[in-house]
Amino acid sequence: MKLSIFFIILVIVPIIFFGTISSNVKEVNIVEQNVYKPEVKKEDNNNYDKVVALTFDDGPSKYTNDIIDTLSKYNVTATFFVIGINLNTKYTDTFNKLIKNGNEVGIHGYSHKEFTKLKMDKVLYEIDYTKKLLNGLGIEPKYVRPPYGSINIKIKEQIEYPIILWNVDTLDWKYKNAQKIYDNSIDDIKDGGIILLHDAYLSSVKVLDLLIPKLQSEGFKIVSISELFQIKGVSPQSGQIYRFI
Ligand SMILES: [Zn+2]
Repeated sequence: MKLSIFFIILVIVPIIFFGTISSNVKEVNIVEQNVYKPEVKKEDNNNYDKVVALTFDDGPSKYTNDIIDTLSKYNVTATFFVIGINLNTKYTDTFNKLIKNGNEVGIHGYSHKEFTKLKMDKVLYEIDYTKKLLNGLGIEPKYVRPPYGSINIKIKEQIEYPIILWNVDTLDWKYKNAQKIYDNSIDDIKDGGIILLHDAYLSSVKVLDLLIPKLQSEGFKIVSISELFQIKGVSPQSGQIYRFI
């Protein structure tokens, strides 16, 4: 009798007790795994050794909204250089979401005319009028990108914004095919680079699902122009041309 009580205390009770604990531990582990997964993803996004800026020209358009959603899906940001003539109150919600998600807007002229073929007062009008339209949407642009990247010393000196060009031309407007755009640009993307895309084609939306995961897996953080300046410790200067930072 004594021996069986002894057996129950020493053998059965511990089995029940530790068995319960160990099953609790398993449950805790499962819960922790579920909680921990997004944490790991967040760490991965901060754990970068290279940085590159993503830019979109010629919008807004019917594709801009999808681009903003895709950027958000990968927790990345971009700069949108818009054309004044495209600005319209129907894009109010798009712009609100764009800014809320940490993206930014720059000036790409009013009518997409080549600055070097215009008189100086027309160039300044292209910039100032687009700025006014953006201000009407509650946006203060910080950069100018001249259409076609066309600029000269005389114009450069008159522009009261940092002038942002690019060093990775995806040629998305030419290929209009996500795989071709990806193949054309992936090897050119380096630390501090500025990538040129256009929110004017469906293929430029689709290529993001190829480019972004690949770049993130290679240790790139993908950001807007302002974030690129900030991360690189460079203070943007008016009238200066930046192709990479
Ligand atoms: Zn353009």
